[in-house]
Amino acid sequence: MTHAPTKLEILCARFVVPSAKGGWREVETRAEAQGIWFLCPLCFEHHGGDVGTHGILAWFVGVGVREMVEPTTRWKAFGLSMEELSLSPSIRTQNGCKWHGWVRSGEAVPA
Ligand SMILES: [Zn+2]
Repeated sequence: MTHAPTKLEILCARFVVPSAKGGWREVETRAEAQGIWFLCPLCFEHHGGDVGTHGILAWFVGVGVREMVEPTTRWKAFGLSMEELSLSPSIRTQNGCKWHGWVRSGEAVPA
């Protein structure tokens, strides 16, 4: 198993906003985005693709995501596009594979 950084675009990343029904829905632009969803890089590598691979959802701070929207952690988002996106702090998944990593300059990098 390698630990090479993985581009968010390979991980099917999309900009999202909370859905009225719960969960998220995709939006077109970074300007609209209140969060990001992407496939878990660790499980993507383990499964050799998206089949059976869970998603990771991170909501941004200061963009109007209501407090009760889960997961309730919020991340600072930097960068004007998916290719430039960075998040702070790191993301630590709580279930399953327990992937821990950073989103930095458009890549998901193991911590
Ligand atoms: Zn995973």
